[in-house]
Amino acid sequence: MKRPAVFLDRDGTINYDPGYLDSPDKLVVLPPARRGLKLLSELGYPLFIVTNQSGIGRGYLSVETLQAIHRRLEEELAPAGVKFEEIAFCPHHPEEGCSCRKPSPKMVLDLAAAHDIDLAASYLVGDSPSDIETGRRAGCRTVLLSGPDPAGRAGAAGGRVEPEYSAADLWEAARLIRELAASDREGRPR
Ligand SMILES: [Mg+2]
Ligand SMILES: [Zn+2]
Repeated sequence: MKRPAVFLDRDGTINYDPGYLDSPDKLVVLPPARRGLKLLSELGYPLFIVTNQSGIGRGYLSVETLQAIHRRLEEELAPAGVKFEEIAFCPHHPEEGCSCRKPSPKMVLDLAAAHDIDLAASYLVGDSPSDIETGRRAGCRTVLLSGPDPAGRAGAAGGRVEPEYSAADLWEAARLIRELAASDREGRPR
């Protein structure tokens, strides 16, 4: 039977986004993300990262460095019981015109097919409008992270792609997903 999952953007959602994260030593996991990922794991959701890493196409870091960053991320989160089923990344320069770069839903669709995921019951959580568009196009529920300021949320959405839900950070998003799952079980309208 297909399972629901949570697809997560990486930079600005899980870790502090310094522009182009190019070394494991610069990785800083956001504290609310750590708590949120722990809760999502406890709720039993398979977790996937879908991340645009055009820094590779731009020559700022290698695929090997990216993989070292992801190993560090997994090591940092393992004590919280968090593990990612798979981390998908687009390494291309935006001008290469690849088929995987978000807002293309391709990374999400490929992961869903490979891992037998029920997209309509899944969530995509990210901090940019392009994440929300990706989730929309993949047929997921979408949660935009845009800080504690409600005015900031509207600004982050840019009026382009309205998320289904919004939350200050990944901790708030995880609690929202827990509530939504509970309403689903009780058959209440969302
Ligand atoms: Mg981001
Ligand atoms: Zn790509």
